[in-house]
Order: sequence, then C-alpha cells, then structure tokens
Amino acid sequence: MVIQMRMILLGKPGGGKGTQATLLKEHLDVPQISTGDILREAVKNGTPLGKEAKNYMDAGKLVPDDLIRGLVEERLSQDDIGKGFIFDGFPRTLAQAEGLKKIADKLGISIDKAVYIDVPTDKIVKRLSGRRSCACGAVYHIESKRPKIEGVCDACSGKLYQRDDDKEDVIKQRIEQYEAQTMPLIDYYRKEGKLVTIDGDQDIDEVFNDIKRGLGI
Ligand code: ADP
Ligand code: ADP
Ligand code: ZN
Repeated sequence: MVIQMRMILLGKPGGGKGTQATLLKEHLDVPQISTGDILREAVKNGTPLGKEAKNYMDAGKLVPDDLIRGLVEERLSQDDIGKGFIFDGFPRTLAQAEGLKKIADKLGISIDKAVYIDVPTDKIVKRLSGRRSCACGAVYHIESKRPKIEGVCDACSGKLYQRDDDKEDVIKQRIEQYEAQTMPLIDYYRKEGKLVTIDGDQDIDEVFNDIKRGLGI
C-alpha cells in the first residue's frame, strides 16, 4: 500500500520539527520542505530572496508572508510531491496557513495532518544553544544527538556549525515571534480537525514512535 501524506509540523523553534521531519521523510519516502533551509540556502547564495530575508532572520523575526508564499508556491510546483510532503517550519502565521490552503486548492490537493510537537519553553534554550547544524540539512546536539566524530556530519562529513540565530538574545526574540504569530495555528488546525498533538519532551525515538502512532503510519 502506498501511503500518501501531506503534512505540516508545528511547534516552537527548537522543538524538534527538523529532526522528526528527517525521520518521517525516510519513513514515508516523501520530500521534507523546510522553509528555514531554503531561506538559509538563498542567503548563502546571495539571491534576491536571500538578500531580502537575511535581516529578518538575523534579528529572529519572521520573514514577510509574501516572500514565503512565493517560495512555497514555487516548491510545490515541482514534480516530486506526488506521494505527499512534510512541511517543517511552515506555515508560521495565519496568513501563511490561508495562503497554503489557496495554493493547495489550485493544485487540487489538501493538507491531511498538522502534527504539533509540544515542548515546554524552559527546554528550548538548551535545545537551541546546543544545536549544531550541517549545510546538508542534518542537525545534531552537543548532548542529546552527538555526531560520531565531534564537529563532523555523519551523513556527509561536512563541518558542523552553530547558526547565528541560535545565540541566546536572538533565541528570545524567536520565541516571542512564535508566541505572537505561530501559536494561533494550533487552534486553526484543531478547528480543521487535522491536529495531532505529540509530547515532544521525550527522547527523539519516542517522539518519532508517537508521531507514527498518531498518524497511523
Ligand atoms: P526545530 O526544527 O523545531 O527548530 P530541531 O529538530 O532542529 O528543531 O531540534 C533542535 C535541537 O534539539 C537540535 O540540536 C536537535 O538535535 C535537538 N533535539 C531534537 N529533538 C530532541 C529530543 N526529542 N530530545 C532532545 N533533543 C532534541
Ligand atoms: P527553527 O528550526 O529554529 O524553527 P527555521 O530554520 O525554521 O528555525 O527558521 C529560521 C528563520 O527563518 C526564522 O527565524 C525566520 O526568520 C525564517 N523563517 C523560516 N521559515 C519561515 C516562515 N515560514 N515564515 C517566516 N519566516 C520563516
Ligand atoms: Zn551533512
């Protein structure tokens, strides 16, 4: 049986969306679409999108909705999404959720599930300040998910780095943005009957098992 799954992952910055999206992508064999990764790549390459987005990202603010909408529309026009997709870090505002609905309508598809990974705010700073990232998209943690060789990516042997926005003052701003702009999406998807809430304050494997159970996959 081919499982088709069009889903989004919701939760605080550092809540484990990217980590779980990577596991789910393997499990479901569908693409992971991380707006954060796409934006960081655009910044690195100095594209017009990257130039516009950079100042917002450095300040821990959300990038304006119209830029995000264009980026998502373009990504969903590619032909690898037939079996579905996993959004990680999108939508982040009510306007983005409405925008996604419009794009999906145009494509004749709809979102199946919104998985909300719930982690208490007091765990978030430790998660983010200990995060180490690789340009390939892989994510590690200095305590809870150590690479086999310190500072080196298991997947591609690339050099791990700490994101500029994973510093304490920017983290605080990102959490504020989350509370003001993204948290209302929990109710939005609950009302749509699509919300699956998962306790994210457990080991990575346990969270993954709960998500699979919650989605029946
Ligand atoms: P998000 O994409 O939501 O910002 P990440 O998946 O990048 O979150 O995770 C943030 C940090 O926390 C990373 O360093 C990751 O290795 C670590 N992490 C993810 N899930 C867990 C977990 N269940 N327990 C402990 N640490 C975790
Ligand atoms: P995290 O993994 O910590 O949740 P992301 O990698 O998803 O962070 O996002 C990093 C930054 O990129 C955000 O702080 C924001 O500036 C920008 N960004 C990513 N996705 C979006 C989005 N859907 N809407 C607006 N800004 C976004
Ligand atoms: Zn890598």
